[in-house]
Amino acid sequence: MKQKPLYWRKLLFTFLGSLAVCLLILLPIVIVYTTKNLAQPVTYATLQAEIDRPEVSIYYIPHQDDDAIAFALSIAHDVANNIPIQVHLISDGANHDLQQNMASGLHYCKWHNTNHSFPLDDQDISRIRTQEFLASMAALNVPPDKIHLMNLHDYQTPAAWTADLYDQLKDSVKKQILANHAQYPNALHHCSSGFFDFDGPRNPVHLACWDAAAEITKASLIQADRFAFYRTYVFYQPPSHRWSQMTMNFSQFLPQHRISVQAYQAYDPANGQYALGMHSVPILMNNTIVDGIIYLDFLNNTVQVPNNVTVL
Ligand SMILES: [Zn+2]
Repeated sequence: MKQKPLYWRKLLFTFLGSLAVCLLILLPIVIVYTTKNLAQPVTYATLQAEIDRPEVSIYYIPHQDDDAIAFALSIAHDVANNIPIQVHLISDGANHDLQQNMASGLHYCKWHNTNHSFPLDDQDISRIRTQEFLASMAALNVPPDKIHLMNLHDYQTPAAWTADLYDQLKDSVKKQILANHAQYPNALHHCSSGFFDFDGPRNPVHLACWDAAAEITKASLIQADRFAFYRTYVFYQPPSHRWSQMTMNFSQFLPQHRISVQAYQAYDPANGQYALGMHSVPILMNNTIVDGIIYLDFLNNTVQVPNNVTVL
């Protein structure tokens, strides 16, 4: 009869001991799992909030046309919300293939059912592309004194873009970002997503901002959440196949998006308007206006590339 309490006490201690061991094993697993799962949405929410209400927005547009294809909705959003913005156009607009399409008479234009042989040289192409860019900025109500032409030469072909030339381009973009950061320490920097967004080999002018930002954040000069990266080439895909690490719906700014694209579709050769953007990337110009979604990537995140997406 005296053994019974001892038996129950032993059982209780065994149970409590086992419970403690279980908790010791499980607790770290639960903490790691919870932290891992909390980190991602918190980061996303922070970035979404940042894009929704940046203190200052600074855009780095690779080429004359990427503004209309990838950035117009965001720019229209910032202008509508009186967010101070600065826009830097990186490329000088050089595009010899486009010059050949418009001037050589050797290429058939499906849009106009003819072979164009306009008297346009390479300098004309750069100048007119930049005019179209400025018309797009005017359509988005960006004040002219907020627009900056970096005028960096686009060497166009992978063979012409040597490693040295690419480093010079990347360093110029990097200097511009750091100069802007010194002036506007809380600014959000809007770049193109050169690493994830491509149509064949990665485009150096699209990649420069990504690589510059990666070096800047690695050196802890600016935090990674001060950068958002926009996709352009994703608009070659139908909406069901478009993918990025984050999307935002800015469909309320579709009317502004439309008039930005129209700046690249204005065709009146007698008055110096050649719709170079539309002749250069007709599919992107047509496909970008669908649902008002912007496609974004970010540095230093844990987002995995889906299995059905190929990264070069
Ligand atoms: Zn044409």
